[in-house]
Amino acid sequence: SVALVWFRRDLRLQDNPALQAALDAGHVPVPVYIHAPHEEGDWAPGGASNAWLHRSLAALDADLRARGSALVLCQGDSQAELERLIEQTGAVAVYWNRKYEPATQPRDAKIKRELREKGIEAESHNGSLMFEPWDVATQQGGPYKVFTPFWRNALTRLQLPAPTRVPDRLPAHTAGGETLDAFGLAPSIPWDRQFWDHWQPGEAGAHEALTVFIDGALNGYREQRDLPDRVGTSLLSPHLHFGEIAPWQIVRRLQGERSASRDADIDGYIRELGWREFSYHLLHHFPQTPDHNLNPRFDQFQWAKPDADALRAWQQGRTGIPIVDAGLRELWATGYMHNRVRMIVASYLCKHMRQHWREGARWFWDTLVDADLANNTMGWQWVAGTGADAAPYFRIFNPVTQSQKFDPQARYITRWVPELAALPLKARFAPWQSPQLLAEHAPAYPALPLVDLGEGRDAALAAYRHTGWA
Ligand code: FAD
Repeated sequence: SVALVWFRRDLRLQDNPALQAALDAGHVPVPVYIHAPHEEGDWAPGGASNAWLHRSLAALDADLRARGSALVLCQGDSQAELERLIEQTGAVAVYWNRKYEPATQPRDAKIKRELREKGIEAESHNGSLMFEPWDVATQQGGPYKVFTPFWRNALTRLQLPAPTRVPDRLPAHTAGGETLDAFGLAPSIPWDRQFWDHWQPGEAGAHEALTVFIDGALNGYREQRDLPDRVGTSLLSPHLHFGEIAPWQIVRRLQGERSASRDADIDGYIRELGWREFSYHLLHHFPQTPDHNLNPRFDQFQWAKPDADALRAWQQGRTGIPIVDAGLRELWATGYMHNRVRMIVASYLCKHMRQHWREGARWFWDTLVDADLANNTMGWQWVAGTGADAAPYFRIFNPVTQSQKFDPQARYITRWVPELAALPLKARFAPWQSPQLLAEHAPAYPALPLVDLGEGRDAALAAYRHTGWA
């Protein structure tokens, strides 16, 4: 008998519960990917995600072909495409791994229900989280809004699934589909050219990145993860987003690396994976949050008038604040930004510029290769102070002191804003304070910050006080 294995954001073969369930049941698996961005509501994947997806799908197809199978590509209405393929292949079952976005959850529930009504077995599995978002609950049975108790509770029930291995040969099938190019995912103007010096999408690339991390940045992760001037983190976020690797595969490998000198770094890393779990918990329980404040008190907050020019200067890394510009230029060039710098650029946008966090979230959505609705929403609401367990609004990052602390040699700054390399070290953090040097050595760089740090801070605090909560 034939079963469809509907791949979505689980673009791997090993430790893939849906694929494994189809094999365990003795079916001939027909692997399928359906391109249906219009079913993602307002959050269809952005440009950088699509560029990654193109390569990840190509890698998955190549891995399947090496085993004698192949990925069937279709586009259109997911349910109609599944039903068409069921008809074409005579499939008796459909297996998939769950997605948790508010737009696709009800779609999947409907598909499951209606397939079953037609006598087709329909089964969904957990392919991407250590904890289902609804499995961790407070004593009252509700959702958590604070990370530490969430994670403390979650860790007590951590059970890593046993590893499964897909055989070297898979049964062949004859189902046909479209070409990957027909999806139009790869950019027509190659603005992503530089990306691929940094990334290798696909399952093999994910495991290679994990090995590089274990051999390198894991040692000292707890101290180095905050320093953007070096590779101090795992760079696994896009691989995790696309399900090229599962978090429990990472944890399993890390558990095998334990030693007295490594325990603290390993625990620190697993805790970061915990933030990812927490973000899915929040998105599941508060599905309105990609577009609305989690904390409704902020609904009355007076953001500044939308300022398209200022927003564009921020997006393009022309704010005149070196660490902010470096982050946004790193993002544009590589599809990635270091976590500490994400916080700094987000804070400058939401506090000093007082532009709505949604504007920043949208920009990240389009430009990050790891753009992830749960993580991005939580990250922006955390910085803006409007979310769960958030930084209080009145705590305003000073980007200059942040850069002096976390990029003390200005290596990150000069990597991405190389025109500042001609300035003496001290002047690279706040070049407007050395106007003559700036005019002489980096005349193209903004002479003044887009929003003065002191004035921006005062205006943000005044707006906050105006709400009556300060
Ligand atoms: P590592 O330090 O190696 O962490 C390992 C993994 O843990 C990450 O891959 C990620 O899956 C998870 N993780 C780490 N930190 C966080 C965090 N703060 N929140 C949630 N998960 C975390 N992450 C995304 O994956 N997609 C996003 O769209 C995204 N948007 C963000 C927006 C803002 C404003 C902020 C402040 C953070 C955002 N993050 C997002 C979280 C974080 O910046 C990235 O996960 C991290 O930088 C990825 O690099 P890494 O894999 O080397 O991290």
